[in-house]
Amino acid sequence: MKTYRIAAIPGDGIGDEVISAGVEVLHALAAREGSFAFDVDRFDWGGEHYKAHGRMMPENGRDLIRGHDAILFGSAGHPDIPDHVTLWGLRLAICQPFDQYANVRPTRILPGIVSPLRGVAAGTLDWVIVRENSEGEYAGVGGRVHQGSPLEAATDVSMFTRAGVERILRFAFRLARTRPRKLLTVVTKSNAQRHAMVMWDEIAKEVAAEFPDVTWDKMLVDAMTVRMVMKPESLDTIVATNLHADILSDLAAALAGSLGIAPTANLNPERAFPSMFEPIHGSAFDITGKGIANPIGTFWSAVMMLEHLGEPAAAGRLMAAIERVTGDARCHTPDLGGTARTADVTAATIAAITGAN
Ligand code: ATP
Ligand code: MG
Repeated sequence: MKTYRIAAIPGDGIGDEVISAGVEVLHALAAREGSFAFDVDRFDWGGEHYKAHGRMMPENGRDLIRGHDAILFGSAGHPDIPDHVTLWGLRLAICQPFDQYANVRPTRILPGIVSPLRGVAAGTLDWVIVRENSEGEYAGVGGRVHQGSPLEAATDVSMFTRAGVERILRFAFRLARTRPRKLLTVVTKSNAQRHAMVMWDEIAKEVAAEFPDVTWDKMLVDAMTVRMVMKPESLDTIVATNLHADILSDLAAALAGSLGIAPTANLNPERAFPSMFEPIHGSAFDITGKGIANPIGTFWSAVMMLEHLGEPAAAGRLMAAIERVTGDARCHTPDLGGTARTADVTAATIAAITGAN
C-alpha cells in the first residue's frame, strides 16, 4: 500500500485547531479508500518557537521537510511578533526556497453558503485565482536608510524576471485550458506601472499565442475589483502578480462567504520540491482556543493536496463530503452565522466520507 509522507506545520493561532482537524479527516479518508495511507510528521514551528529560540523554524527546518510528499500548513502570525517577521520567518521561508511559484486559489460558493453579493447563488461564481508567488512586490528586495532621522527612506523593489513571468502565465493558460470555459483574465496595472506591468502584458500576448483554444483578456487591477463584484459570472481563471492576487483573493474569499472556507495550494509544478497546502485565512487570534474555527478552508486545501498527489478519487470524495457538510446549516461555524464547533464540522465531514450519515 502506498504511504504519503505529509509534513504538518500548524503554525500559530487557530492553525493548530484546523490542522489537527485536517489530519483527522485525512486519516479517515485514507481508511475509507483503503488504497493509501498517510504518515504525518508534525512540526511545531511558529511564534512560540520564535519566543523560545529566536527563530520561527529551526535552521535545518527545510531539510526536515524536503523529502515529504506534501506540506500541510496552518498559519503564521503572532500578536507579540511583527507580522513581517512571522511571515518571512516561516511561510515565505518555505515558499521561496522550495520555488512554490504558483499559488492557486479556487473560489466557489459552496452549497448552503450565502454570498454577500446580492443575487449570486451557489454555482454562479466559480473562479481560480493564480497568484505569482515568488517575485514582484514580495521578492524581499529593498532597503531602509537613515532610520530615526528626517531623511529616513525605504523601498520595496518590485522585480519581475522574464522567466518568472513566462512560467506563471504559461501555468495559468494551461490551467484555464483544463476548465470547461477555457477563459483567462490577466490582471496588471500597466497604465501606472510602466515597466514590469507592461512586460507582463507583452509576455501574456506571446504566451497566449501558444494557447489558441483559450479565450483571454486583460484587466487593470482597479477595474478588476469592480468586475468581481458587478459581473462575477464573467470571470473564470484569473492570473495576477503576488500583491494584486493577494488582495483579489481575499476579496474573492469574502464574496464566496467566509475567509474560513477558502483554500490555497503553493505549487512547485516541476515537483523538484514539495508543494504546500494551506487555508487562505491567517492566525485569527480573536477566536484562537475557542474551538469555533472553521476547518473547511483546511479540508478544501487537503482536496487540492490529494489532487496534487495523484489521488483524484479521494479528492472527489472529500470535496463531496465538504459540500454535503456546508449544505447543512447545523454544521455552520459562527463565521457562517451558525453555532457549530470545529469538532462538529470535523465529525460531520468524517461521517460524510465514511457514509455514516
Ligand atoms: P493573520 O495576521 O495571521 O493574517 P488575522 O488575525 O488577520 O491573522 P485572518 O485569519 O486574516 O486573521 O482573518 C480575519 C478574521 O476573520 C479573524 O480575525 C477571524 O475573526 C475571521 N476568521 C478567519 N479565519 C477564520 C476561520 N477559519 N474560522 C472562523 N473565523 C475566521
Ligand atoms: Mg489577516
